[in-house]
Amino acid sequence: MLNASLKQLSGQLAQKKISSVELTTECLDRIKRLNPEYNAFITVNEEMSLAQAQTADALIASGRSGPLTGIPVAQKDIFCAKGWLTTCGSKMLSNFVSPYDAGVIERFNAAGAVNIGKTNMDEFAMGSSNETSHYGFVRNPWDVTAVPGGSSGGAACAVAARLAPAATGTDTGGSIRQPAALCGISGIKPTYGLVSRYGMIAFASSLDQGGPMAKSAEDLALLLNVMVGFDARDSTSLQRDVEDYAGELQKPLHGLRIGLPKEYFAAGMSSEVELAVTHALEEFRKLGAQTVEISLPNVPLSIPVYYVLAPAEASSNLSRFDGVRYGYRAESYTDLADMYRKSRAQGFGAEVKRRILIGTYVLSHGYYDAYYIKAQKLRRLIAQDFADAYQQCDVIMGPTTPTVAFNLGEKSGDPIQMYLSDIYTSAANLTGMPAMSIPVGFGEKRRPIGLHLIGNYFREAQLLNIAHQYQQVTDWHVQSPV
Ligand code: GLN
Repeated sequence: MLNASLKQLSGQLAQKKISSVELTTECLDRIKRLNPEYNAFITVNEEMSLAQAQTADALIASGRSGPLTGIPVAQKDIFCAKGWLTTCGSKMLSNFVSPYDAGVIERFNAAGAVNIGKTNMDEFAMGSSNETSHYGFVRNPWDVTAVPGGSSGGAACAVAARLAPAATGTDTGGSIRQPAALCGISGIKPTYGLVSRYGMIAFASSLDQGGPMAKSAEDLALLLNVMVGFDARDSTSLQRDVEDYAGELQKPLHGLRIGLPKEYFAAGMSSEVELAVTHALEEFRKLGAQTVEISLPNVPLSIPVYYVLAPAEASSNLSRFDGVRYGYRAESYTDLADMYRKSRAQGFGAEVKRRILIGTYVLSHGYYDAYYIKAQKLRRLIAQDFADAYQQCDVIMGPTTPTVAFNLGEKSGDPIQMYLSDIYTSAANLTGMPAMSIPVGFGEKRRPIGLHLIGNYFREAQLLNIAHQYQQVTDWHVQSPV
């Protein structure tokens, strides 16, 4: 049952072959058995999950169910969920039980989905390996000595290890796509503004975007149909007509123009990744697509640009964690300033502090023009590169990550090496364009490899169509490590 697609599960629930309580119980049992090793979940609450499953069963019985009614979904611990501990992977929020639901959680609740637990993540979504979490690292189910990627490492592990049929993630520089690639699952970061950021704990507000993680493109489409929608409480939420993201899945790919940026097929990509990507492109040619070489000349600057802008926004966003209103407060202090200092010094981990320091530095008088403004100008040039490229192609493809999953501990002492994990992914956040990762093979040690697809604004349905067609003729997405 746990290898089934969401469509199959939904069908079985609708035909009453299984109940949501049974499906939820099966997931909870697996989590109980396997989570002690994987550490994919920070919080599991059987009582709350089962109560939602019962409500879903009643909805199904009354004939008012939708495609996700009764389906367990693992929620990244960055989404506030009423009555649930919501930590964002940080000691700073280790005692925070959210009094309200994020926009995304509201939408899943309204669809009758079951929150199966809150997934582990890098602290405040800062990281590429899930090793910065206050709650400990997550293991990659394909090889437990490897990282699952990050920051949505718990979500990727949960789906790959079949602890949950679907999950949510957030992506500021690659945090849905990179862990999806390293764990052999599919994930999509939608166009900026499509998914509400209300109640999604802020890292870098102009880059953050929530999105689904699941086995296949078809599953992602069903999840996206629930997640996307205008929310007046998010000032950058987009008001658009409702779209069916599963609507184009069956379209043939004949005549599709795939742009291959020469900057992505250059030094830095490992040979095993290159081989799998090359094979995937062959498959797309067989499906009737053609490939064209394109150039994105400013895109190699994405990482330095990202590591000026994301920390700048983070330093501002994280100033709210001061020990006063909610979250961790130091036990002893002499006065107010000392309380702020000690609460923040004790509540934040090393990577978060590093980002706050970088952010404060690039925003300070005298450096603002040299770093922050310069990075904003380059962000604009990177967006222009993509606009130019879309004159020649419909979709851009390349590897999601330069290498397969690295070993636990291998890069945690070297921030620059860690930051380079997002070398292919961060441009889509800087431009706000939709992008996804799908599994296309394995490296020598059977560690998964992801193909990266970047689309023009609002082309989610097209990306899902392209991925779905590939998944109709290949079976990487249905392979599981367990
Ligand atoms: N790895 C990147 C970072 O540490 C991106 C993280 C993310 O997308 N949340 O900032």
